[in-house]
Amino acid sequence: MSTHFDIVIAGGGMVGASLALQLDTRLPVDTTILLVEGIEFPRPAVNRAPDYHPSFDARSTALSYSSQLIYEGMGLWEGVSEWLCPIESIHVSSRGRFGSSLMRAQDYAWPALGYVVENAWLGQSLIQGLYRSDRIEMMSPAKVTDVAVGQAGVKLGLEGGVGQLTTTLLLVADGANSALRAQLGVSVREKHYDQHALVANVTSAKPHQGCAFERFTDEGPLALLPLLPTDSDEHRSALVWTLPPSRALQLVDCSKQVFLHELQARFGYRLGRLLQVGARQQYPLALLRSYEQVRQGVVVMGNAAHALHPVAGQGFNLALRDVAELGRVLAEGIANGCSLGDLSTLQRYQCRQRADQDRAIQFSDVVPSLFMQRDLVLGMGRDLALAGLDILPGVKREFVRRAAGLAQRGHTGG
Ligand SMILES: Cc1cc2nc3c(=O)[nH]c(=O)nc-3n(C[C@H](O)[C@H](O)[C@H](O)COP(=O)(O)OP(=O)(O)OC[C@H]3O[C@@H](n4cnc5c(N)ncnc54)[C@H](O)[C@@H]3O)c2cc1C
Repeated sequence: MSTHFDIVIAGGGMVGASLALQLDTRLPVDTTILLVEGIEFPRPAVNRAPDYHPSFDARSTALSYSSQLIYEGMGLWEGVSEWLCPIESIHVSSRGRFGSSLMRAQDYAWPALGYVVENAWLGQSLIQGLYRSDRIEMMSPAKVTDVAVGQAGVKLGLEGGVGQLTTTLLLVADGANSALRAQLGVSVREKHYDQHALVANVTSAKPHQGCAFERFTDEGPLALLPLLPTDSDEHRSALVWTLPPSRALQLVDCSKQVFLHELQARFGYRLGRLLQVGARQQYPLALLRSYEQVRQGVVVMGNAAHALHPVAGQGFNLALRDVAELGRVLAEGIANGCSLGDLSTLQRYQCRQRADQDRAIQFSDVVPSLFMQRDLVLGMGRDLALAGLDILPGVKREFVRRAAGLAQRGHTGG
């Protein structure tokens, strides 16, 4: 294996893997790309759930229209589409309050408001793409452990790989607790929500009919996203339940019967009786953002650059828009004769994505705060906001466009 690569991506999670494939599509064929991932990539499986990989775990992701366009451009959408459940409507409600709102794709003449994919299947499609590529080299399991940025390029120390490498451009995509970001001395601003997201798949007596439910409760928001049925034709939804940490722990550990009883009491009977729950996992929630995302020869990407509250399903969709913009900017830079690590090229990327990041981060931060208010006046504001979504079509349309990741690009969205 060579000891110099034009681009090295540290971290092969959903963002690092998408980044490698995006650059493969965009950059000239002689640009060399290495993807280093700490945990061994499973071989792509045919028509069966892939082996567990922490980055492509039991969670599901709601992909927005902007992500669809990006994956289409990369030629990946068709492969992913077999695992997608279309979101035909979104029902937003508030437990114990009067406000609720229904947004339907047909009201906007869209085929869907988004698509839900289980991370395991999205990961499978990405891994298949990586193995198909002639020029993306993969090193897994291996870790980038040391970084030294100099005038001549970036020197990397690796564990489990070839030992030492050099690169012109290092893309840091090693997750929210990024050790490489810390080593580079890139600081982050963090806001802890003091909440955990409890994630599990549940089955219900009634079909979801493509409806995503977003329900705000005094403990935190609860989302049930529609999933494709299994072979046994079960009606399945993916639960993301935001809770105080001690309550999340209690609900992860309790019996399935108690769990379903508690969930039913919070969610109600819109899906009939809740019948089964799969493996339960919890994730501590924090808003994290690095304001310095580029340096000469380095870009910080994905959760390492910004990790968001999952309530509005924005984190990965935003990261994918970053990925697409970086690909665009690097291709322009190369066409203009710039080096891949050129600081002014990388700054152009950060400049172009700043407003999009600001908006998505604000949206994901404001929504849970608004709906967590116990204060009567703010609570009424929340109810009116929900009712207002139904009453004011312009406001509702803007909400839907933002959730679909379209607001920042001036798309009409059909
Ligand atoms: C409960 C929940 C629900 C969510 N739902 C949605 C949703 O519906 N829509 C949405 O858009 N977003 C959603 N998100 C956000 C989304 O999951 C994240 O944006 C996404 O997982 C970020 O991926 P990443 O690749 O940046 O980081 P990670 O998934 O953390 O991947 C980092 C990778 O780097 C590897 N690694 C670490 N250190 C090194 C090293 N030194 N060298 C090499 N490799 C290394 C790790 O093994 C790992 O594979 C949700 C998040 C949560 C918590």
